Amino acid sequence: MPADVVVVGSLNMDLVVRTPRLPQPGETLTGHGFTTTAGGKGANQAVALARLGTATAMVGCVGDDDYGHALRDGLEREGIHCQGIRRCGEQPTGVAVIQVDDDSRNSIVVTPGSNGELTPADVEGCDALLASARLVICQLETPLATVRHALERARHHGCLTLLNAAPAMSLPRDLLALVDWLVVNESEAAALSGQTVTHPDEAARAVQCLRKAGCRQVLITLGAQGVVAAVDDRLHHYAARPVTAMDTTAAGDTFVGAFAAALSRGEGIEAAIRYGQAAAAIAVTRAGAQASIPRHDEILPPAH
Ligand code: ATP
Repeated sequence: MPADVVVVGSLNMDLVVRTPRLPQPGETLTGHGFTTTAGGKGANQAVALARLGTATAMVGCVGDDDYGHALRDGLEREGIHCQGIRRCGEQPTGVAVIQVDDDSRNSIVVTPGSNGELTPADVEGCDALLASARLVICQLETPLATVRHALERARHHGCLTLLNAAPAMSLPRDLLALVDWLVVNESEAAALSGQTVTHPDEAARAVQCLRKAGCRQVLITLGAQGVVAAVDDRLHHYAARPVTAMDTTAAGDTFVGAFAAALSRGEGIEAAIRYGQAAAAIAVTRAGAQASIPRHDEILPPAH
Protein backbone atom coordinates (compact mmCIF):
# COMPACT_ATOMS: atom_id res chain seq x y z
CA MET A 1 0.00 0.00 0.00
CA PRO A 2 1.69 3.27 -1.05
CA ALA A 3 1.88 6.07 1.54
CA ASP A 4 1.87 9.81 0.85
CA VAL A 5 4.10 10.46 3.85
CA VAL A 6 6.81 8.20 5.32
CA VAL A 7 8.02 8.90 8.86
CA VAL A 8 11.50 7.54 9.63
CA GLY A 9 11.92 7.80 13.37
CA SER A 10 11.54 6.75 16.97
CA LEU A 11 8.97 4.74 18.90
CA ASN A 12 9.10 4.88 22.71
CA MET A 13 6.98 3.69 25.58
CA ASP A 14 6.44 6.56 28.04
CA LEU A 15 6.37 5.40 31.67
CA VAL A 16 4.84 8.29 33.62
CA VAL A 17 4.89 8.44 37.43
CA ARG A 18 2.94 11.16 39.25
CA THR A 19 4.71 12.23 42.43
CA PRO A 20 4.10 15.00 45.01
CA ARG A 21 7.54 16.45 44.24
CA LEU A 22 10.62 15.37 42.29
CA PRO A 23 12.87 13.09 44.40
CA GLN A 24 16.36 14.07 45.64
CA PRO A 25 19.31 11.78 44.80
CA GLY A 26 19.08 8.66 46.97
CA GLU A 27 15.52 9.44 48.13
CA THR A 28 12.53 7.08 47.83
CA LEU A 29 9.14 8.75 47.42
CA THR A 30 5.63 7.32 47.24
CA GLY A 31 4.01 8.30 43.96
CA HIS A 32 0.28 8.61 43.36
CA GLY A 33 -0.23 7.39 39.83
CA PHE A 34 1.40 5.48 37.01
CA THR A 35 0.53 5.36 33.31
CA THR A 36 2.12 3.64 30.34
CA THR A 37 1.51 5.51 27.08
CA ALA A 38 2.80 5.25 23.55
CA GLY A 39 5.24 7.97 22.49
CA GLY A 40 8.43 8.73 20.60
CA LYS A 41 8.61 11.72 18.27
CA GLY A 42 8.43 9.64 15.10
CA ALA A 43 5.43 7.61 16.23
CA ASN A 44 3.61 10.71 17.55
CA GLN A 45 4.04 12.47 14.22
CA ALA A 46 2.85 9.40 12.31
CA VAL A 47 -0.27 9.24 14.51
CA ALA A 48 -0.99 12.92 13.90
CA LEU A 49 -0.70 12.40 10.14
CA ALA A 50 -2.96 9.34 10.16
CA ARG A 51 -5.64 10.94 12.37
CA LEU A 52 -5.66 13.91 10.02
CA GLY A 53 -6.41 11.69 7.06
CA THR A 54 -2.96 11.13 5.50
CA ALA A 55 -1.87 7.74 4.11
CA THR A 56 1.18 7.25 6.36
CA ALA A 57 3.96 4.68 6.73
CA MET A 58 6.38 4.36 9.63
CA VAL A 59 9.98 3.15 9.43
CA GLY A 60 11.49 2.39 12.83
CA CYS A 61 12.83 -0.26 15.17
CA VAL A 62 11.28 -1.79 18.30
CA GLY A 63 12.60 -4.45 20.68
CA ASP A 64 11.29 -8.00 20.64
CA ASP A 65 9.37 -7.37 23.87
CA ASP A 66 5.88 -6.48 25.13
CA TYR A 67 6.37 -2.72 24.66
CA GLY A 68 7.55 -3.22 21.11
CA HIS A 69 4.53 -5.34 20.23
CA ALA A 70 2.17 -2.87 21.88
CA LEU A 71 3.64 0.16 20.07
CA ARG A 72 3.44 -1.49 16.69
CA ASP A 73 -0.11 -2.74 17.32
CA GLY A 74 -1.13 0.77 18.38
CA LEU A 75 0.14 2.30 15.13
CA GLU A 76 -1.59 -0.42 13.09
CA ARG A 77 -4.87 0.41 14.82
CA GLU A 78 -4.39 4.02 13.63
CA GLY A 79 -4.21 2.69 10.05
CA ILE A 80 -0.47 3.35 9.70
CA HIS A 81 1.53 1.11 7.33
CA CYS A 82 3.93 -0.70 9.72
CA GLN A 83 5.87 -3.11 7.46
CA GLY A 84 8.90 -0.84 7.88
CA ILE A 85 8.99 -1.31 11.67
CA ARG A 86 11.67 -3.90 12.40
CA ARG A 87 11.73 -5.95 15.58
CA CYS A 88 15.28 -6.27 16.88
CA GLY A 89 16.42 -8.80 19.47
CA GLU A 90 19.58 -7.00 20.61
CA GLN A 91 18.05 -4.03 22.43
CA PRO A 92 14.83 -3.43 24.40
CA THR A 93 12.21 -1.04 23.04
CA GLY A 94 13.03 2.61 23.72
CA VAL A 95 11.49 4.03 26.89
CA ALA A 96 11.07 7.45 28.42
CA VAL A 97 10.84 7.38 32.22
CA ILE A 98 8.98 10.52 33.20
CA GLN A 99 8.33 11.90 36.68
CA VAL A 100 5.71 14.65 36.94
CA ASP A 101 5.18 16.48 40.24
CA ASP A 102 2.09 18.25 41.58
CA ASP A 103 3.31 21.57 40.07
CA SER A 104 3.54 19.88 36.61
CA ARG A 105 7.35 20.01 36.66
CA ASN A 106 8.96 16.96 35.18
CA SER A 107 12.23 15.12 34.90
CA ILE A 108 12.69 12.71 32.01
CA VAL A 109 15.23 10.01 31.22
CA VAL A 110 15.04 8.58 27.69
CA THR A 111 16.85 5.34 26.87
CA PRO A 112 16.81 4.99 23.07
CA GLY A 113 17.19 1.17 23.15
CA SER A 114 16.04 -0.24 19.82
CA ASN A 115 15.73 3.24 18.25
CA GLY A 116 19.53 3.31 18.22
CA GLU A 117 19.49 0.14 16.10
CA LEU A 118 17.69 1.72 13.14
CA THR A 119 20.24 1.51 10.34
CA PRO A 120 20.64 2.88 6.80
CA ALA A 121 19.98 -0.73 5.68
CA ASP A 122 16.51 -0.52 7.30
CA VAL A 123 15.82 2.57 5.20
CA GLU A 124 17.17 0.79 2.13
CA GLY A 125 14.70 -2.03 2.78
CA CYS A 126 11.87 0.51 2.55
CA ASP A 127 13.12 2.16 -0.65
CA ALA A 128 9.94 1.32 -2.56
CA LEU A 129 7.90 3.13 0.10
CA LEU A 130 10.11 6.21 -0.17
CA ALA A 131 9.94 6.09 -3.95
CA SER A 132 6.15 6.44 -3.95
CA ALA A 133 5.88 9.04 -1.14
CA ARG A 134 5.46 12.79 -1.51
CA LEU A 135 7.14 13.67 1.77
CA VAL A 136 9.64 11.96 4.08
CA ILE A 137 9.91 13.12 7.71
CA CYS A 138 12.81 12.50 10.12
CA GLN A 139 13.68 13.59 13.65
CA LEU A 140 16.91 13.11 15.64
CA GLU A 141 15.94 10.30 18.04
CA THR A 142 17.48 7.71 15.69
CA PRO A 143 21.14 7.51 14.51
CA LEU A 144 22.29 10.45 12.40
CA ALA A 145 23.66 8.15 9.68
CA THR A 146 20.15 6.72 9.26
CA VAL A 147 18.57 10.18 9.15
CA ARG A 148 21.07 11.24 6.51
CA HIS A 149 20.41 8.12 4.42
CA ALA A 150 16.64 8.62 4.59
CA LEU A 151 16.99 12.25 3.47
CA GLU A 152 19.35 11.25 0.65
CA ARG A 153 17.05 8.47 -0.60
CA ALA A 154 14.06 10.81 -0.41
CA ARG A 155 15.93 13.41 -2.47
CA HIS A 156 16.99 10.69 -4.93
CA HIS A 157 13.32 9.79 -5.45
CA GLY A 158 12.26 13.41 -5.77
CA CYS A 159 10.22 13.51 -2.53
CA LEU A 160 10.15 16.54 -0.30
CA THR A 161 12.01 16.20 3.00
CA LEU A 162 11.07 17.54 6.43
CA LEU A 163 13.47 17.41 9.37
CA ASN A 164 12.16 18.06 12.87
CA ALA A 165 15.64 18.56 14.36
CA ALA A 166 14.70 17.39 17.86
CA PRO A 167 16.23 16.86 20.38
CA ALA A 168 18.50 19.90 20.17
CA MET A 169 21.96 19.39 18.67
CA SER A 170 24.18 21.05 16.09
CA LEU A 171 24.19 19.51 12.60
CA PRO A 172 26.62 19.61 9.68
CA ARG A 173 25.76 21.96 6.80
CA ASP A 174 25.71 19.17 4.23
CA LEU A 175 22.94 17.44 6.19
CA LEU A 176 20.91 20.66 6.44
CA ALA A 177 21.27 21.04 2.68
CA LEU A 178 19.22 17.81 2.27
CA VAL A 179 16.24 19.38 4.06
CA ASP A 180 13.35 21.13 2.30
CA TRP A 181 11.44 21.95 5.50
CA LEU A 182 13.27 22.40 8.80
CA VAL A 183 10.93 22.59 11.83
CA VAL A 184 12.49 23.38 15.22
CA ASN A 185 11.52 24.86 18.59
CA GLU A 186 13.42 27.58 20.45
CA SER A 187 16.17 25.41 21.97
CA GLU A 188 16.66 23.41 18.77
CA ALA A 189 16.90 26.61 16.71
CA ALA A 190 19.46 27.95 19.21
CA ALA A 191 21.57 24.77 19.00
CA LEU A 192 21.58 24.90 15.19
CA SER A 193 22.10 28.64 14.72
CA GLY A 194 24.30 29.40 17.73
CA GLN A 195 21.94 32.27 18.59
CA THR A 196 19.62 32.86 21.52
CA VAL A 197 15.99 32.22 20.52
CA THR A 198 13.35 33.17 23.08
CA HIS A 199 10.94 35.49 21.25
CA PRO A 200 9.74 36.15 17.69
CA ASP A 201 12.37 38.81 16.81
CA GLU A 202 15.21 36.49 17.77
CA ALA A 203 13.49 33.63 15.94
CA ALA A 204 13.32 35.77 12.80
CA ARG A 205 17.10 36.32 12.98
CA ALA A 206 17.65 32.58 13.50
CA VAL A 207 15.45 31.75 10.48
CA GLN A 208 17.63 34.00 8.31
CA CYS A 209 20.81 32.47 9.72
CA LEU A 210 19.60 28.89 9.08
CA ARG A 211 18.53 29.73 5.54
CA LYS A 212 22.01 31.08 4.88
CA ALA A 213 23.36 27.76 6.23
CA GLY A 214 21.53 25.95 3.43
CA CYS A 215 18.02 25.14 4.74
CA ARG A 216 15.39 25.91 2.14
CA GLN A 217 12.41 26.59 4.40
CA VAL A 218 12.66 27.11 8.15
CA LEU A 219 9.84 27.16 10.70
CA ILE A 220 10.57 27.96 14.34
CA THR A 221 7.83 27.08 16.83
CA LEU A 222 7.68 29.19 19.98
CA GLY A 223 5.05 27.44 22.10
CA ALA A 224 2.26 29.89 23.05
CA GLN A 225 4.14 32.59 21.07
CA GLY A 226 3.31 30.80 17.80
CA VAL A 227 5.50 30.23 14.75
CA VAL A 228 8.06 32.31 12.83
CA ALA A 229 8.74 31.35 9.20
CA ALA A 230 9.96 32.85 5.95
CA VAL A 231 7.23 32.77 3.29
CA ASP A 232 8.10 33.94 -0.21
CA ASP A 233 11.37 35.21 1.24
CA ARG A 234 9.54 37.45 3.74
CA LEU A 235 9.55 36.75 7.46
CA HIS A 236 6.19 36.25 9.11
CA HIS A 237 5.03 35.66 12.66
CA TYR A 238 1.93 33.48 13.07
CA ALA A 239 0.37 33.96 16.52
CA ALA A 240 -0.74 30.78 18.29
CA ARG A 241 -4.44 30.13 18.78
CA PRO A 242 -5.44 31.42 22.22
CA VAL A 243 -6.32 28.43 24.40
CA THR A 244 -5.89 27.43 28.04
CA ALA A 245 -3.14 24.84 27.91
CA MET A 246 -3.24 21.98 30.41
CA ASP A 247 -0.54 19.63 29.02
CA THR A 248 1.81 20.67 26.21
CA THR A 249 3.28 17.17 25.70
CA ALA A 250 3.46 16.41 21.96
CA ALA A 251 2.45 19.96 20.93
CA GLY A 252 5.46 20.04 18.64
CA ASP A 253 4.80 16.57 17.21
CA THR A 254 1.15 17.43 16.57
CA PHE A 255 2.24 20.63 14.82
CA VAL A 256 4.74 18.76 12.62
CA GLY A 257 2.24 16.00 11.74
CA ALA A 258 -0.57 18.41 10.94
CA PHE A 259 1.68 20.79 8.98
CA ALA A 260 2.93 17.82 6.94
CA ALA A 261 -0.62 16.49 6.46
CA ALA A 262 -1.68 19.82 4.96
CA LEU A 263 1.43 20.08 2.76
CA SER A 264 0.95 16.55 1.47
CA ARG A 265 -2.57 17.34 0.30
CA GLY A 266 -1.23 20.29 -1.65
CA GLU A 267 -1.97 23.20 0.66
CA GLY A 268 0.32 26.25 0.65
CA ILE A 269 2.73 27.02 3.47
CA GLU A 270 0.52 29.58 5.24
CA ALA A 271 -2.51 27.29 5.26
CA ALA A 272 -0.33 24.40 6.42
CA ILE A 273 1.12 26.46 9.29
CA ARG A 274 -2.36 27.55 10.40
CA TYR A 275 -3.63 23.97 10.22
CA GLY A 276 -0.64 22.80 12.28
CA GLN A 277 -1.29 25.49 14.86
CA ALA A 278 -4.99 24.63 15.06
CA ALA A 279 -4.23 20.94 15.65
CA ALA A 280 -1.52 21.71 18.24
CA ALA A 281 -3.82 24.15 20.07
CA ILE A 282 -6.32 21.32 20.56
CA ALA A 283 -3.57 18.90 21.69
CA VAL A 284 -2.40 21.26 24.47
CA THR A 285 -5.89 21.34 25.98
CA ARG A 286 -5.77 17.54 26.52
CA ALA A 287 -3.61 15.21 28.60
CA GLY A 288 -1.03 12.83 27.17
CA ALA A 289 1.05 12.50 24.01
CA GLN A 290 -0.71 10.44 21.32
CA ALA A 291 -3.94 10.56 23.31
CA SER A 292 -4.13 14.35 22.86
CA ILE A 293 -3.77 14.43 19.06
CA PRO A 294 -7.04 15.48 17.33
CA ARG A 295 -8.80 14.16 14.24
CA HIS A 296 -9.39 16.28 11.13
CA ASP A 297 -13.10 16.85 11.85
CA GLU A 298 -12.23 18.45 15.23
CA ILE A 299 -10.20 21.23 13.63
CA LEU A 300 -12.16 24.40 13.08
CA PRO A 301 -11.18 26.94 10.41
CA PRO A 302 -9.60 30.15 11.75
CA ALA A 303 -12.06 32.83 12.97
CA HIS A 304 -12.14 35.99 10.79
P1 ATP B 1 6.86 19.61 22.75
O1 ATP B 1 8.35 19.32 22.88
O2 ATP B 1 6.20 19.93 24.05
O3 ATP B 1 6.13 18.62 21.94
P2 ATP B 1 7.77 21.82 21.09
O4 ATP B 1 8.65 22.62 22.01
O5 ATP B 1 8.42 20.99 20.06
O6 ATP B 1 6.73 20.96 21.93
P3 ATP B 1 6.11 24.13 20.79
O7 ATP B 1 6.85 25.25 20.15
O8 ATP B 1 5.96 24.20 22.28
O9 ATP B 1 6.75 22.77 20.31
O10 ATP B 1 4.62 24.03 20.18
C1 ATP B 1 4.38 23.81 18.81
C2 ATP B 1 3.19 24.65 18.40
O11 ATP B 1 2.05 24.24 19.20
C3 ATP B 1 3.31 26.14 18.66
O12 ATP B 1 3.95 26.81 17.58
C4 ATP B 1 1.86 26.56 18.81
O13 ATP B 1 1.26 26.80 17.56
C5 ATP B 1 1.23 25.35 19.48
N1 ATP B 1 1.23 25.56 20.95
C6 ATP B 1 2.13 25.14 21.85
N2 ATP B 1 1.82 25.59 23.09
C7 ATP B 1 0.68 26.30 22.95
C8 ATP B 1 -0.15 27.03 23.85
N3 ATP B 1 0.14 27.11 25.16
N4 ATP B 1 -1.26 27.64 23.34
C9 ATP B 1 -1.57 27.55 22.03
N5 ATP B 1 -0.82 26.89 21.13
C10 ATP B 1 0.29 26.27 21.58
